[in-house]
Amino acid sequence: MLSIHTIKALEKNLKSLPKETCLGLVPTMGALHEGHASLFKKAVEENDHVVVSIFVNPTQFNNNSDLEKYPKTLDADIKLIHSISPNILIFTPTTSEIYSSAVESNNYDFNGLDKVMEGEFRDNHFNGVGTIVEALFTIIKPRKAYFGEKDFQQLCIIQKLTEIQKLGVKIIGCPIVRESNGLAMSSRNERLSPEVRQQAGFIYQSMLTAKHKFGTESVLKTKEWITTEFKNNPNFELEYFEITDIDTLTPIKERIKETKYRAFIAVFADDVRLIDNIALN
Ligand code: AMP
Repeated sequence: MLSIHTIKALEKNLKSLPKETCLGLVPTMGALHEGHASLFKKAVEENDHVVVSIFVNPTQFNNNSDLEKYPKTLDADIKLIHSISPNILIFTPTTSEIYSSAVESNNYDFNGLDKVMEGEFRDNHFNGVGTIVEALFTIIKPRKAYFGEKDFQQLCIIQKLTEIQKLGVKIIGCPIVRESNGLAMSSRNERLSPEVRQQAGFIYQSMLTAKHKFGTESVLKTKEWITTEFKNNPNFELEYFEITDIDTLTPIKERIKETKYRAFIAVFADDVRLIDNIALN
């Protein structure tokens, strides 16, 4: 069995597991790479049984062309998952299996976490993310679920979702895996030309310098520096750069002692939208 497509077949399979099985889930949209693999490895280490879901969730895309262009590499994905463990169960539902009536998202109150950065620039994105994650948790009932810090805002939103919907799943965040030039691994990197992909190390290098500046200069100066860096580089267009505290994700103007901060960035390279983030202190 390479992958399971229906909820019914998945439930039957999960029911055959011993009662006290510690079940881990890693939700993905496929086009898998080493970033995803790091989540699978951690989940295999920490659970008796692991499910990986592959589903390109339409309700979290605010842009149809981005949804249509999303890379699909199912055969290679199955190979990568099974190279980590042949026992991982792969769930590849169709859209009608997940959205049995309308392809619509639920509405959640994420207490403002969804109003900034990705939430501000991708309308309704986090309601879509919440809808698919709640659906997967309800169907699969994992004890733990694994998400990457690559999408740090999403990780915070899913912690919140689990709390407000009382889903009873332990959410585990995993560090960002990068290409050799520092570019955060992403399925979207496949859409970059080899030259731009190489040059895109510039995004992470700028974040590292911003982190250094944040240690000695004001928030405003650090933001101005990033804006100028990107204005001077015709290959990349800056959509946003924000510095926020790590709990509320509210962009700050001044830093307060004893608070933990993170910097977030979204950049266009040609028509490919790339995001990244870094801990500042
Ligand atoms: P996606 O398939 O893009 O929805 O990603 C599935 C999961 O893999 C999400 O929790 C992502 O945050 C995580 N992920 C994607 N890229 C990376 C990366 N470079 N490092 C760590 N985790 C990642």
